[in-house]
Amino acid sequence: MEFIPVNEPLLNGNEKKYLCECIDSGWISSEGPFVKEFESKMSATVGRKYGIAVSNGTAALEVAVQALSISAGDEVIMPTFTIISCAMAVTKMGAIPVLVDSDLHTWNMNVDEIEAKITDKTKAIMVVHIYGLPVEMDKILELAEKYNLKIIEDAAEMHGQMYNGKPCGSFGDISTFSFYPNKHVTTGEGGMVVTDDEKLAERCRMLRNLCFQKDVRYVHNEISDNYRFTNLQAAVGLAQLERLDEFIEKKREMGRYYTENLADIKGLILPLSKKDYAENIYWVYGVVLDKDIQMDNRTVQKLLAKEGIGTRTFFWCMHEQPVYRNEGLFLDESYPNAEYLARKGFYIPSGLALTKEQMKAVVIGVRNIMSEII
Ligand SMILES: *Cc1c(COP(=O)(O)O)cnc(C)c1O
Repeated sequence: MEFIPVNEPLLNGNEKKYLCECIDSGWISSEGPFVKEFESKMSATVGRKYGIAVSNGTAALEVAVQALSISAGDEVIMPTFTIISCAMAVTKMGAIPVLVDSDLHTWNMNVDEIEAKITDKTKAIMVVHIYGLPVEMDKILELAEKYNLKIIEDAAEMHGQMYNGKPCGSFGDISTFSFYPNKHVTTGEGGMVVTDDEKLAERCRMLRNLCFQKDVRYVHNEISDNYRFTNLQAAVGLAQLERLDEFIEKKREMGRYYTENLADIKGLILPLSKKDYAENIYWVYGVVLDKDIQMDNRTVQKLLAKEGIGTRTFFWCMHEQPVYRNEGLFLDESYPNAEYLARKGFYIPSGLALTKEQMKAVVIGVRNIMSEII
């Protein structure tokens, strides 16, 4: 039995050709010409003026938070159901993540809970679009305007997705992307911040490069990291971007196929195919065990692994992270919807290299296991 991995990227376009150009020309560092080309092409896909490529999506969030001068004591509102990169970017600066529960249907942050969490210390809302449907942006934009808050938009999972016809990645004062191999566009490791603000863009460029100053080299006024992005990564990224439309279409086809073929299975909640503001882009195809199933996600995932099906658990909530609890953060907090998703949700193989035969095998495997445990 062939094991079906949860993700495998598709690298059969111009990736090899552009990589060979790097080797042949000797341009392999962050100074190479593909980096700027990738920055301008990627930021153009979401209609932004500036793109600053960095070493990964986590670095992009860190640069975004620091660029907005979020610092000790400031509060940033974000979903508890997300990747730790979001919270870490905030806590690294000494600022405090203020958490919001999930909507059980879209799995995104429940925007109706945000306003009650705003205090005079709130500096920003970190919007994270989760798994395939965008966050309801209208409400966020309204709150940001009303309370004079910045928006950091984590669009790592949203390459090519639109909210009411406007690209995800175009809503934040700074928006971020990741190019990890399970994202719609990959560069192996990689990330980008995008913005329309020239000053912020300049600051992000400085922050990605140890805060070197433009004029006086080796004299530094601020601390940051080396988050540079190489010409080799950009070479792969350019080849990937050429196929973005095709990749999105493929993801949506995958989502339709799974939904058609899994819809009648008892005990399994499938992702919403659309909301009035967006059609699901299925960054991953997530499923959630319903209340009738006594098992948790990990137990079911082990059974699926025995059938040769790779899966990945949903995020673990920020308020339940040992690292933060040990520091005394979030101790009395509970977010029942997010806790439910974290214990009952997982995603099934949905990488771009997945074949129709593999999808059929996944459907059969999921059916078998679910009929055994219901
Ligand atoms: C993948 C991802 C990140 C982190 O990106 P890396 O490149 O792995 O550091 C951040 N936020 C979200 C929502 C992601 O899905």
